[in-house]
Amino acid sequence: MTIVFCNLIVIKQSRMRYLLFFLFFGVSVSFSQNKLDSLLPVRGLAIAAPQAKDVDSFVMFIKNEMVPRRLNTLILRVDYNYQFTSHPELRDADALSLADVKKIVAACKQGGIQIIPQINLLGHQSWAETTYALLKVYPQFDETPHVKMPEKYKWPNDDGLYCKSYCPLHPEVHKVVFAMVDEICDAFEAKAFHAGMDEVFYIGDAKCPRCKGKDKAKLFADEVAKIRNHLFLSNRTLWIWGDRLLDGNTTGLGMWEASTNGTHPAVDMIPRDVVICDWHYERPDKTAVYFSMKGLQVVTCPWRNPGFAVAQLQDMIRFREESTPQMRENFQGVVQTVWSPAIYFLRGYYQDKKDAKGARNTDWYSFRAMFGDMEKY
Ligand SMILES: [Zn+2]
Repeated sequence: MTIVFCNLIVIKQSRMRYLLFFLFFGVSVSFSQNKLDSLLPVRGLAIAAPQAKDVDSFVMFIKNEMVPRRLNTLILRVDYNYQFTSHPELRDADALSLADVKKIVAACKQGGIQIIPQINLLGHQSWAETTYALLKVYPQFDETPHVKMPEKYKWPNDDGLYCKSYCPLHPEVHKVVFAMVDEICDAFEAKAFHAGMDEVFYIGDAKCPRCKGKDKAKLFADEVAKIRNHLFLSNRTLWIWGDRLLDGNTTGLGMWEASTNGTHPAVDMIPRDVVICDWHYERPDKTAVYFSMKGLQVVTCPWRNPGFAVAQLQDMIRFREESTPQMRENFQGVVQTVWSPAIYFLRGYYQDKKDAKGARNTDWYSFRAMFGDMEKY
């Protein structure tokens, strides 16, 4: 009897210890997560959606690399890599199925990562010699139909062709693109959508019957507002790249990371709830402060220089610490950008590939350095 009683006591005590340990451990994990969320609300990766055959490898990367490093945001550049049912004519060959997408969604959901799918709207409708699906199938949406695609692309060129744009004032274009936006947001169960809108060189073209003579900043801002208002109806937020909102001449940031084609006054015209992805690759420029002072939420986006990426992370943390409460909430965090196909990034990452000069100036080393630095918090 006594022995049984003693055993019960031991079991109870051990259960209690287990419970206390569980409570303590659970609270401490949650406390450290809350602390990190307060230090840096957005910790993200922006990358192309994988090809269908690479989805499983990509899911493993999410589980084994992103989740343990406490990333919480995945901006996934889908474009035409999805089996759209609203517009099957715009699908890539071998595009992702809904089942592929759900594998990514499940891994992210389990790891506490929000997915923000991306389709490039307005600009980036072509690359080098290739016209992308939208303008290939609907050439009437082309802002500059008089600019013929070259057989062999080179920059600079007489047409100033970097990428084609669609005409934001074409009466039919939004019916098509918004159907695609809604479809991938539903598929990815997304609360936010990324519209790209970077490096828009063709806008308000002098030969466009709808846009000629119009203010380019207003054209850009109106397009941002139109997309934002569409998403707002489904309780979704719009994210865009920030370069068109910065004055490339005054700042010396130039025509890529900022605008020299008259769009930058749009920074004061776009809705204040649009989130700005402020990419800077040549230096750790402090333009996040500019966006925050304009009342816009901003995330800083490095690419392939690990030293800059760590500096950009530290800047963001310091901006939050040293700002007024009003501005602090605009400094949202950091997003590592990747511009190669997803599988190139994964190979480089797992094979420790150096760059062409044998150095570590790659996006995978930048990812490791920046999120490695974040481990100390
Ligand atoms: Zn136009």
